[in-house]
Amino acid sequence: MSSILVVGSVALDSVKTPEGESKNALGGSAVYFSLAARLFAQVSVVGVVGRDFPTEHRRMLSERGVDLSGLKETSGKTFRWVGQFGRDLSDAKTLETHLNVFRTFKPALGPAHRKSRAVFLANIDPDIQADVLDQMENPSIVACDTMNFWINSKPEALKKLLARVHIFFANEEEAKKLTHQANLFCAARIISEWGPSIVVIKKGEHGVVLKAGHRLLAFPAFPMESLKDPTGAGDSFAGGFMGCLMAGGGSLDEDALKRATLYGTILASFNIEEFSTRRLERVSRKDAEERLADFLDRLGVQTALLDAA
Ligand code: AMP
Repeated sequence: MSSILVVGSVALDSVKTPEGESKNALGGSAVYFSLAARLFAQVSVVGVVGRDFPTEHRRMLSERGVDLSGLKETSGKTFRWVGQFGRDLSDAKTLETHLNVFRTFKPALGPAHRKSRAVFLANIDPDIQADVLDQMENPSIVACDTMNFWINSKPEALKKLLARVHIFFANEEEAKKLTHQANLFCAARIISEWGPSIVVIKKGEHGVVLKAGHRLLAFPAFPMESLKDPTGAGDSFAGGFMGCLMAGGGSLDEDALKRATLYGTILASFNIEEFSTRRLERVSRKDAEERLADFLDRLGVQTALLDAA
């Protein structure tokens, strides 16, 4: 299996949605990403937790094949995020962000992690993302994500990082905010001029738009009539997307990007069915294949597209 290194938050989240709430539940960008990507590739997490991080979460991730040798534990509290979703369950409203142990985190990669073929710089301080990238030995795919919190607090560090990235994931609001544009296509073009040849803009229930060179590819979301908690939808999309790219040999050609987008869409749809990581913990590759077949059938697309995955 190909290997993907992910650096990002490992969190205890408290989330309220119209469907209920969860308190101090497992979350974090690196966690959602890993639980999705592990279906396709070997995933190693680089991050930090405090002494309060429950051992059962470590166990659950290890049992699912996620390599936690780069997850440090230090004195202090685990990163915490408190968020809320309104009735339409679109963008999250951040109520509180407690960086805690991430405030002073300095990643130090071991020799095997430095050689990973792909790296996903998941949502965390752009200086930590850059620090991880600095230590890597020529990865063939560098992808990155972020959040309003970092767009507002460290826009210059983020832009500097984007110059070194092949694939950038953002939601519509983030892309517009980062570029000071009201138009989605202008935002995608400007971001691609800063560096990433592939810009993936997620639009929630309206699907996703990919700018890859001069191509613009648009996909609908998997139709979900009921969902409980959209937290981590972006990260599980990225996990399915990157995992699929690596399972296909790491090519970034158009068919590979289409397959990756479909699997990203499917993994995100599982994630939002339950609070925290509960649904992703149970999802299997077979579940993903079955839902994908259903999705393609609804879209009227031939399954031959997937043969290379
Ligand atoms: P998503 O819904 O995919 O954008 O990601 C949600 C996850 O991001 C949650 O589990 C949070 O713990 C995590 N998160 C929220 N804010 C931040 C932040 N400022 N930096 C890093 N991770 C964050």
